[in-house]
Amino acid sequence: LTTADPIDEHRICVCVRKRPLNKKETQMKDLDVITIPSKDVVMVHEPKQKVDLTRYLENQTFRFDYAFDDSAPNEMVYRFTARPLVETIFERGMATCFAYGQTGSGKTHTMGGDFSGKNQDCSKGIYALAGNSFLGIIYNILLEYYSGGLGKDLEEQKTKLRVLEDGKQQVQVVGLQEREVKCVEDVLKLIDIGNSCRTSGQTSANAHSSRSHAVFQIILRRKGKLHGKFSLIDLAGNERGADTSSADRQTRLEGAEINKSLLALKECIRALGRNKPHTPFRASKLTQVLRDSFIGENSRTCMVIFYCDTVKLKNEFGISPSD
Ligand code: ADP
Ligand code: MG
Repeated sequence: LTTADPIDEHRICVCVRKRPLNKKETQMKDLDVITIPSKDVVMVHEPKQKVDLTRYLENQTFRFDYAFDDSAPNEMVYRFTARPLVETIFERGMATCFAYGQTGSGKTHTMGGDFSGKNQDCSKGIYALAGNSFLGIIYNILLEYYSGGLGKDLEEQKTKLRVLEDGKQQVQVVGLQEREVKCVEDVLKLIDIGNSCRTSGQTSANAHSSRSHAVFQIILRRKGKLHGKFSLIDLAGNERGADTSSADRQTRLEGAEINKSLLALKECIRALGRNKPHTPFRASKLTQVLRDSFIGENSRTCMVIFYCDTVKLKNEFGISPSD
């Protein structure tokens, strides 16, 4: 796993990462319903019941460009997802890498890195690893999409970011700042500022960082002109209806906005995959901002899906995986 570059040829590639079960999940002795039998296959075990009431597991397999099991460190995920896209930016291209999955599935651990010291895999994330390969050039600072684009200036937290489209249908984010970085520590500092702003945007008890999208962009300019752009995105959790039933109006609105933007993103990616002439970018602020990253001749996307789930088999089903 050192030299191969399995996604190099694709315009869009889709990978899966499964995190290790946490302490609580392990203690409960629940069944891990996902296994990764080989480097591009994900197997899902679904508990079922026959007409005669005997219980069994139905196994379904799904193929992806790459599947990372719980032993894969961030460094390896990076090498097979974002790393192959770095070249695109130097060749006047646009690249985008998304982390998509439910809250708690490992998106921020992978993108932003995990320095909590809680895990043995205390490592840099894809922002820092990608940042490292572009050192000395300009980075956009983390941009928060909170409630559909009403983000804050990440350092002063005063200015609202606004998304505007100019006459040439180029999307401009008003209020966004670009920062030059010189070393990986500068990148980590920006990530830190971005993350603290993300969490401080919370409006109610259950609305936290996972209810906003974080967009980290690396911009390459030559002689003042945009040469290439790399967008690394830690999407809001995709749990269905998580906030829509909340009693708090603001939380409900945010939940609806997030569902709308994730749906718009799916539609755009679907359209791109089929080379459809019309791509519905305008449906959300997120897709509007990513528009120019998707349409160019030389644009590539990698989606990393985070998937982790358990089932209370012993208690609820009375069977164990070996049955
Ligand atoms: P998300 O951003 O998708 O809501 P997080 O990245 O915050 O999820 O991860 C949830 C928890 O699981 C965190 O405590 C994180 O440290 C842990 N975790 C996630 N992925 C891994 C991994 N690959 N290895 C070890 N711990 C992980
Ligand atoms: Mg997160």
